Amino acid sequence: MDLAKTVKRRISELSAIGSDPTGGMTRLLYTDSWKEAQNWVVNELQSFGMVTEFDEVGNLFGRTEGSASKKTIMSGSHIDTVANGGTLDGQYGVIAAMTAMEYLIETHGQPKKALEVISMAEEEGSRFPTVFWGSKNFVGEAVRTDVEGIADSTGAKFVEEMRRQGFDFKEKQTRREDIDAFVEIHIEQGNVLEKEQLQIGVVNNIAGQRRYTVVLKGQANHAGTTPMGYRHDAVYGFAKICSEAIDKAKAVGDPLVLTFGKVEPKPNTVNVVSGEVVFTIDCRHTDAAELIDFTTALEKRIQEISAEEGLTATIDLWMDEAPVPMNEEIVATIEAQAKKGNYNYRVMHSGAGHDSQVIAPHYPTAMIFVPSIDGISHNPAEETKFEDLVEGVKILADTLYELAY
Ligand SMILES: [Zn+2]
Repeated sequence: MDLAKTVKRRISELSAIGSDPTGGMTRLLYTDSWKEAQNWVVNELQSFGMVTEFDEVGNLFGRTEGSASKKTIMSGSHIDTVANGGTLDGQYGVIAAMTAMEYLIETHGQPKKALEVISMAEEEGSRFPTVFWGSKNFVGEAVRTDVEGIADSTGAKFVEEMRRQGFDFKEKQTRREDIDAFVEIHIEQGNVLEKEQLQIGVVNNIAGQRRYTVVLKGQANHAGTTPMGYRHDAVYGFAKICSEAIDKAKAVGDPLVLTFGKVEPKPNTVNVVSGEVVFTIDCRHTDAAELIDFTTALEKRIQEISAEEGLTATIDLWMDEAPVPMNEEIVATIEAQAKKGNYNYRVMHSGAGHDSQVIAPHYPTAMIFVPSIDGISHNPAEETKFEDLVEGVKILADTLYELAY
């Protein structure tokens, strides 16, 4: 087979399913285009002899048995997209897995361990208020009551939509015992590889995240009649907190990142001193202790600065996810392949969340990144140089060969 040609054909065919008239694509969980995409994957997997099977919730598996062992080497990613997303997030990992495995079977025959593709039902949380529905069901961690009452923005109910596509809850959340390794390949969705002119990222860690919503309360007052000394200005308090925290984050540097992404002053009017600012904090780090230390110190400074300015602060920590290290042996295997094949690579962490973080606590897991042009993702402009996409499939094939043959 012509590896590059096959990758090109598969990306173009799968991208046509759910494509938006304005560019990009929208393939939300349990919609008709989502089902059509999974069925397209079934056909592709069967075209080179894989045995396919859906689980109860709509995760799709394609398998070639091993000659010497029932153990399984698995690769894949998610088939769903964000609304008006790009053509690589998720589906590149599914296409790369099937193409690498097809190439290996054609070149080297039956593997010793089974090779299996997984096309996961959902990762993005872009239709219903739930994320990782696919991988959580795969590892036996999904909670039925988390989705039983939820609906999308049009009012369509999760459970009804799932059943409409012929799927249903798993009777029991079970975990497979045969998975020896899971390797997910994904676009970086950042600009590190591009800036460093590299083609491959060997991912050794998925960063932990803490997210907060903070309400700073002061006193709304007349902008003309309230002297500076008599103000309790929530915007000023926010500005001090934000500027000091970002200075500190810059001083700490990689891999810490800190973002004040949403800021809402009230009443948000030209001639009124702000009486309240609601803002969010998103902080990520690959080391659990460093993440906790940095954010705990920040919480303390928010209270101190608020007190100095005559404000009150209510701090709500609503997401607290620990970093997920990738399996050292598989990371070493990928890196060894990168060295052997003279790939242009570096070892790096992932700042974004991925299915691999759900799977890693259960099975030996690692990830490979390919560059994203300008770091753009979740956007129709999401793009990767075609030769980089092909390099990704090649190193994935080299890695799977090492693991399964
Ligand atoms: Zn993704």
